[in-house]
Amino acid sequence: MSEAIDYRSVHTTGAISITSVSKSFGKHKALDDVSLELAPGSVTVILGPSGSGKSTLLRSINHLERVDAGFIQIDGDYIGYQRRGDKLYELKEHAILRQRINVGYVFQNFNLFPHLTVLENLIEAPIAHRQLTKRDAVTRAGELLDIVGLRHKADAWPRHLSGGQQQRIAIARALMLNPRVMLFDEPTSALDPELVGEVLDVIKKLARSGTTLVIVTHEVGFAREVADNVVFMVDGKIVEQGNSTQVLNNPRHERTKRFLARVL
Ligand code: ADP
Ligand code: MG
Repeated sequence: MSEAIDYRSVHTTGAISITSVSKSFGKHKALDDVSLELAPGSVTVILGPSGSGKSTLLRSINHLERVDAGFIQIDGDYIGYQRRGDKLYELKEHAILRQRINVGYVFQNFNLFPHLTVLENLIEAPIAHRQLTKRDAVTRAGELLDIVGLRHKADAWPRHLSGGQQQRIAIARALMLNPRVMLFDEPTSALDPELVGEVLDVIKKLARSGTTLVIVTHEVGFAREVADNVVFMVDGKIVEQGNSTQVLNNPRHERTKRFLARVL
């Protein structure tokens, strides 16, 4: 894999600010007064048992979930909303879609378009959003395929790739729109163990590029190596957050200690 990260993907922006966010599904509080400040270019790993609200938090950052209370900002912009005076008004669909261009999202199950080749998967969104001409999109796709080590698969169909390769393509696709923030929801959970490393290696490379990363994962070794911040959630609440060494080596809370003892 090529070591160089294209400088166009280096940002000094990408600050995420989450303020007193709550979200319920029926009577169940999936997020309960969550606040979090993430610096531009920082790498944050979110840990927590199943059902603790990790995915709901990531989805809220992209306004895929509409929060019931509180607000989320990226570089000062209210996600899903516009401020007028001291009131927030929900944005129209097209404005929300425009905000989402700044946020790359990588899912557990890759979600590549099965009827498009690898190259077509990459160039589809930037052309549809009129971010790049076809020619520039193809050039950019080639650079990103180099970064994830898969330029030779440009014309392959997703179904002919391994899970690890599909996820590396999904990461490259998410980078096409040059996002300020990249969100990963258990990016290696669906992979056979021998394929986890190649995907984590790509994320590690990205961690050095200056894009703000938020990664939900159970890979504690990876968190130790790459994360600036670690956040531990239980029952929709942040139980503990801090720099990765502190949270992973000297957890303060009993729940964090028990969780780490189980996953390590
Ligand atoms: P995690 O990603 O930590 O496993 P989630 O954010 O997916 O947790 O879910 C948090 C809680 O919210 C869970 O109890 C889950 O069942 C519930 N939940 C999430 N999404 C929905 C939804 N669309 N409808 C109803 N309940 C949901
Ligand atoms: Mg989840």
